[in-house]
Amino acid sequence: YAGKHTKNLIAEKIREIKVNDIKSVPVVVREDASVYDAIVTLFVEDVGTLFVVHEDGSLAGVISRKDLLKIAIGNADIRQIPVSVIMTRMPNLVTCNPEESAYDAARKIVVHQVDALPVVKTEEINGKVKYKVIGRITKTIITKLFVELGTI
Ligand code: ADP
Repeated sequence: YAGKHTKNLIAEKIREIKVNDIKSVPVVVREDASVYDAIVTLFVEDVGTLFVVHEDGSLAGVISRKDLLKIAIGNADIRQIPVSVIMTRMPNLVTCNPEESAYDAARKIVVHQVDALPVVKTEEINGKVKYKVIGRITKTIITKLFVELGTI
């Protein structure tokens, strides 16, 4: 049984670790990439979620394994369909920033029931807010952190 003191120590720890300390490299595709290309990228890069970026590199959307499976099991010509047609797009994306805690990111993953969050830096260009993709936080990263914290 974890007493109050022990629990506070764990809470303190996961709150002091920043997204920036645990993020990994984002895997992105352009919004005009085909669904076929996205599936290939998923295998080549060995990830479950892809981030979709505009021409200027800013965040446009997110594509999950199941988003790709859903379109692939239909009769659609996946070489002709751009990922932008099926992605989940702004402003419906759940993101995190590098200064947020590991706890906040993990909580977002749980609350919004997603596998991955883009780590973004907010930039204002010509009065328009853009999100520069600088990393990713996934369930795997959080699980690894959990194991690390539990290792004596
Ligand atoms: P899967 O669909 O493979 O189970 P997810 O649970 O991560 O993977 O995705 C569920 C749905 O949520 C998908 O339609 C996906 O596009 C969307 N999604 C995934 N990640 C995010 C995110 N960070 N913000 C908003 N929507 C997301």
